[in-house]
Amino acid sequence: MKVIYISSEISPIAKVGGLADVSLGLGRAIQGLGNEVCVILPKYTCLKTKYLENLQLLDIEFKVPFAGVDYTVKVWKANLHGLNLFFIDPTKPKSFFDSPSIYGQRDDIQRFAFFSLAALEYISRYQSDVNLIHINEWHTALVAPLYAEKFKSKFDTKIMLTLHNMNYQGITGSTILKKVGLNQDKLRPVCRQGSTSKINLIKIGIHFSDYINTVSPKYYQEIKTPKNGRGLEDFVLENDQKFTGILNGIDYEIWNPKLDKALKWNYSRDQLENKYASKDHLREMLRMPQSRKTPLVTCICRLVPQKGIRMIKRAITHTLNSNGQFVLFGSSPIPKIQEDFENLQKQYSDNTNAQFIFNSYNEELSHQIYAGADMLICPSIFEPCGLTQLIALQYGTIPVVRQTGGLADTIFDIETHERSGEVGNGFSYLPPTQKALEQTLRRAFKTYFENPTLWKETIQRGMNMDFSWKSSALKYFEIYSKLVSK
Ligand code: ADP
Repeated sequence: MKVIYISSEISPIAKVGGLADVSLGLGRAIQGLGNEVCVILPKYTCLKTKYLENLQLLDIEFKVPFAGVDYTVKVWKANLHGLNLFFIDPTKPKSFFDSPSIYGQRDDIQRFAFFSLAALEYISRYQSDVNLIHINEWHTALVAPLYAEKFKSKFDTKIMLTLHNMNYQGITGSTILKKVGLNQDKLRPVCRQGSTSKINLIKIGIHFSDYINTVSPKYYQEIKTPKNGRGLEDFVLENDQKFTGILNGIDYEIWNPKLDKALKWNYSRDQLENKYASKDHLREMLRMPQSRKTPLVTCICRLVPQKGIRMIKRAITHTLNSNGQFVLFGSSPIPKIQEDFENLQKQYSDNTNAQFIFNSYNEELSHQIYAGADMLICPSIFEPCGLTQLIALQYGTIPVVRQTGGLADTIFDIETHERSGEVGNGFSYLPPTQKALEQTLRRAFKTYFENPTLWKETIQRGMNMDFSWKSSALKYFEIYSKLVSK
């Protein structure tokens, strides 16, 4: 089977969050099952091309009509961890992708609408033997109606859409439909945003896709409720027959403490001594006081409301008051939140037990922090899947999480879970409150200080668990096969 992913991110060259890991990991896993796979992305000028192999400009060029203007598009090809990538590069009259960051431009909707159209145009000309096109988020949701209305007569394929986060739906004026050449009057009723005059790109993507999934089973149930459906709960229920939830995996060839080149000390579950050496090394790099007995807690995430901002702040204070050390790694696209954390950093400026690294993205350092920390917190208000807790497990770092979405599907409390002796791999709590987080951290610290045997067993159980793409990729492949054989 030939499968093409159309995505706005791929790790590590164009990464903002989990979507990037999924494009790479799922793509590689589906290829590993014997399929032909490639990924189509925008040719951002901010691509981290140092990770690519054989980046080359192909000898092809075509026109894409957008908003009444003919754009000249070139295509680049490269290889990343064995996957073929193709990059859409509009050159004239302007490039849509010459911004310093992947998202956050005023014309994001136009940039990705153009990308969706250009990717389909490229496929119809050069890759029309594709069996299945897999699109992601609102950024590429327009591929589904574009295929149905404009390209179906040119080649035969099926479309699957993955929703990584219902918080982002691509709500915009309906003229975007006209700009990509769709019939605005015909399609507006299908994708109207509530009673407004706007349209919703996720809605139109759901309507026209053959199959849709969220990135964990629990989140799939959650988006059918008003709290997490973000206004689309009824629409999801109406489309229930073509919806499912499939848990994300992580790529164990990339996230593997035994082989990880970003680490000074490699280790495995039977040889944890080097994990502690990694902790020493991290502290040395960050100029934090050395003491093996002191627990080191981390949080690695985009600092957005979804991630539980108040709870993250409370976790920092609680850790420092409990003789622990904290490394916060991430930054916020929201100026007020960023400022709050910078103020917290100032407050702790003479406390070397607290480190704030406001780096929007640094792949190697993230690996070193996963390896060096003892605990990782995810106090999310909601979490479609969450990858940081899965990476933490693999690196022997115990997750402390709120029971929501994919966090609830993957982390089982070592004290309160009914089968904790078999599956206990972390600490978790339900109420989205600072108090509940603090109580849970207190339990985690108590176990760390008073029961090193149980702590080590929990690390080893977590490292032993299989959250690779193996079983999830099979679930995707089963759906692809059913769609393609229809
Ligand atoms: P989301 O997609 O909501 O951002 P996920 O937990 O699904 O959250 O995925 C986050 C991914 O981004 C993980 O691979 C994590 O390691 C990575 N990440 C988060 N912050 C940073 C950072 N500052 N530098 C490098 N990687 C980061």
